[in-house]
Amino acid sequence: MTTWVAVPAGSGFGVDNLPYGVYSPPGAPPRVGVRIGNHVLDLAAALDDPVFAAPTLNPFMAQGSRRWRTVREQVVELLSDERHRARVDAALSPVAAVVLSLPFAVADFVDYYSSLHHACNVGRMFRPDEEPLKPNWRHLPVGYHGRSGTVVASGTPIVRPAGQWRAPGDDAPSFGPTRRLDIEAEVGFVVGSPSRMSQPVPVDRFAEHVFGVVLCNDWSARDIQAWEYVPLGPYLGKSFATSISPWVVPLAALDAARIRPVAQDPEPLPYLRGGDWALDLTLEVRLNGEVVSRPPFADMYWTAAQQLAHMTVNGASVRTGDLFASGTVSGAVREQRGSLLELTWNGTDPLVLADGSTRTFLEDGDMVTIAATAPGAGAGLIDLGDVTGTIKPARPI
Ligand code: MN
Repeated sequence: MTTWVAVPAGSGFGVDNLPYGVYSPPGAPPRVGVRIGNHVLDLAAALDDPVFAAPTLNPFMAQGSRRWRTVREQVVELLSDERHRARVDAALSPVAAVVLSLPFAVADFVDYYSSLHHACNVGRMFRPDEEPLKPNWRHLPVGYHGRSGTVVASGTPIVRPAGQWRAPGDDAPSFGPTRRLDIEAEVGFVVGSPSRMSQPVPVDRFAEHVFGVVLCNDWSARDIQAWEYVPLGPYLGKSFATSISPWVVPLAALDAARIRPVAQDPEPLPYLRGGDWALDLTLEVRLNGEVVSRPPFADMYWTAAQQLAHMTVNGASVRTGDLFASGTVSGAVREQRGSLLELTWNGTDPLVLADGSTRTFLEDGDMVTIAATAPGAGAGLIDLGDVTGTIKPARPI
């Protein structure tokens, strides 16, 4: 598929991608746009439809999967056929000239724990005397409910959180800024079409409800987390901030990235069988510009379709704007680990950076970027963009 828009050679933002975002042109209010090459298309103007004049994707996402398909076809037509060029060209802005914001109003936020390698690594570090996996792990996608109100746009500064933790050998906890601030490289799935209470979403209805995919950095304070998480799970060690990428890549753009899911042993219960939504995404984690890891999403044990089926099997409903994230994406080898916790083995084996400095956990001023790409149609590439954040010093206590 070709377009009359000047898309740089090798760009992953060609007409096979067309991710949605929310942007503000200079001096103008936010609106919904589609990215093509290094430009963004004003959809309210191009399609003459006020649903895209909103400051979030939510009203459009709520219109449902048939409508998402129609709009995608219309946008492809506008950007492919020269006859539309004169009119549509006026609705394009260079991405560099606009401000990108949070693409959707986040309703509920769930975070999973679906990488076998990540779960085993964490189990070995946090519970060295036990089996790394708890007995439930291979039977259900383990997750927790997070804090949607602190899901922030890429680029939002991350203030080092304070909290309590217990130092090794101490009886009493200490209080202060976290000393073990970490990242988690994750893939997030965005619900467009809601479900009804007491009506579970089967694995094979995934694409009717899920609109698209973003990248997530689930910032984590490991010292706070380690002290608080027993027995109810992650809480303040996670809730201070989660960053997401500005472009929501629609599921339709990821057709060529669909692969056979990894074999699950034992076979899960019937409601978790099928729903082949494994995706061949390659993540890249950069610390101050230097690549420190390339986590393979293809290796995830539980798929997003299984996660959605599990999340609703008890009758809980999902809403437009719900975000559920995969859990840290980690592969089998060190260069594929999606957290500093694993990359430095809980701080015992520091990373050596190109400038000779070392890192265990994040320092003030550090900038972390998570990017990802997927195979596109033919030899093409789908770019998922990136999510970035810089650590600011803790507030005075
Ligand atoms: Mn996480």
